[in-house]
Amino acid sequence: MAEDLTKKAAEMLLQGATLLSEPCPYCKGVRVMKQGQALCISCGRQPEKKEIPKQDPPKVTTSSIEKILEKKMYDLTKELEQEKDHEKQQNILKTINSLLETMEKAKGKQ
Ligand SMILES: [Zn+2]
Repeated sequence: MAEDLTKKAAEMLLQGATLLSEPCPYCKGVRVMKQGQALCISCGRQPEKKEIPKQDPPKVTTSSIEKILEKKMYDLTKELEQEKDHEKQQNILKTINSLLETMEKAKGKQ
């Protein structure tokens, strides 16, 4: 019986299940979790159907792209500030320039 469970658990893990950090509430056994269902390897109970709140995948909106670009811009500015090497400064400036272009395009789409 226990062997079957171990097998099943191994199969589940192969199919992308994950080990749960919380032990089984009944026997403190190790549990695996797949598609919101936790299976205890020791006693085989599935005490809870963990409803994984369905979250919409984060939408990549123009504004989030802008935020990323702004962050990059900030990083680059800092980098530029600290860079002593002129060649590298040029490189950073080039990147900033293309970043600005991308930002303009992103804004234009709204
Ligand atoms: Zn258990």
